[in-house]
Amino acid sequence: MKSEECSRNIRDRFSKYYSRFNQKGNGKIYIGLLMATLIIGITVFFYMNGVGYIVKIDGKEVGIVRNKEDLNKIVDALETSLKEKYNTDIVFDERIIFESTKARDEELSKPENLEKNLQKFLDFKVKAYSIKVDNKIIASLPKKEDTKKVLEAVKKVYVDEKKEYDKIYFVEKVKVDEIKVATNQLKTYEDAIKIISQGTEKEELYEVQEGENFWTIAEKNKLSVDDLMIANPSIDPEKLQIKQKISLVVAKPLLTVATVEKEKYEEDIPYESKFEETNRLYKGDKKIKAKGQVGKKEILAEVVRYNGTEISKKTLEEKVVKKPKTEIVLKGTKIPPPDKSTGAFNNPTRGVLTSRFGPRWGKTHRGVDIAAKTGTPVKAVTTGIVIFSGWKGNYGNCVIINNGNGIQTLYAHNNKLLVKKGEKVTKGQVISLVGSTGNTTGPHVHFEVKKNGVLVNPLKYVKY
Ligand SMILES: [Zn+2]
Repeated sequence: MKSEECSRNIRDRFSKYYSRFNQKGNGKIYIGLLMATLIIGITVFFYMNGVGYIVKIDGKEVGIVRNKEDLNKIVDALETSLKEKYNTDIVFDERIIFESTKARDEELSKPENLEKNLQKFLDFKVKAYSIKVDNKIIASLPKKEDTKKVLEAVKKVYVDEKKEYDKIYFVEKVKVDEIKVATNQLKTYEDAIKIISQGTEKEELYEVQEGENFWTIAEKNKLSVDDLMIANPSIDPEKLQIKQKISLVVAKPLLTVATVEKEKYEEDIPYESKFEETNRLYKGDKKIKAKGQVGKKEILAEVVRYNGTEISKKTLEEKVVKKPKTEIVLKGTKIPPPDKSTGAFNNPTRGVLTSRFGPRWGKTHRGVDIAAKTGTPVKAVTTGIVIFSGWKGNYGNCVIINNGNGIQTLYAHNNKLLVKKGEKVTKGQVISLVGSTGNTTGPHVHFEVKKNGVLVNPLKYVKY
């Protein structure tokens, strides 16, 4: 039974009675009035003590009130306090339903319980401003100016105030919209910046244990070492300390700040080489006549950076400040003596081949070893110019001859050197005596051949 309908019926009945008494004469007016007073009294009593409302939100019972007004007052108070708390308009999402009921005074909800339940069940939303990146809400803030401040702060990270930029913009589509959100969706200024710059607002810290390093920690947490380094830009991986806290959150910024600026810088201009032929040098030999010098140019370029990383550079202007100086290289044309060009070499010494060219004991043997008695003559395998004669580390007393045609020969471990640097030698000329100087276990000649700077097997030129 609906109590509102019920009370209306009582009133209808009362007015019918009243008019009937009125028609039958004044004598009965008193009885009529008495009855009317009685009925009004009962009705009022019924109103005061019987009728009430069950308040429901979303099908859930919040409490029982006598008047709708009683509840509205509490809702208003709640709205005011929330409005103050969040400093923005409050929107209650659910519809409050009143269901008529009979209720005695003691059955009515206490205002404080009612308020508690309302807060629990009433899903209210607040007016907020959302930052949308490519149409996806990434953070909502109570104030519009705060969204602007957040976006400015994100830009500032990649903007040098001392520089002048042609353009600063977000690569993604960024929009701020007015929306209504639940209060737990609201972000603070700091949180919003964290979300945008890291891609997340969560923090995940890891405590370094004894014996751990970035590599073991990365593996343990299924991250790459690079990611771990990105997550901890201020930590030197070589200087980790036990119990140090490092972040496991790899930043994936939700916004890309693009900057476009003009940059002026200098760049080297490489020099060119010019060749001049000369018959004062053997064919295949080269000599620098004039040193080259790099030049310099001033460049004005438009540089585009995404979150600080250069992604393109377009040259707008180029000005040569210093021209490069061409290198002049002399190129020999002189035909070498016949014995040189024939490739017929004599052996460097008489003796026994004890070690071949190539791999030896896990290393590469750079030449061949010819064992001979100390003091045995060592001869130039062919004509050339001595380019080194002296002590050379493991080689001991050593002679190097430039034989032309790109050939260089080396004679090591000598007991005595008989030629000097710069000296011209002929094929078969004695240049030194066999010995065991430098790194060697017995007297022998270590003999190397280089062709165009590369070690080759000497047995291609000499026979043992
Ligand atoms: Zn050797």
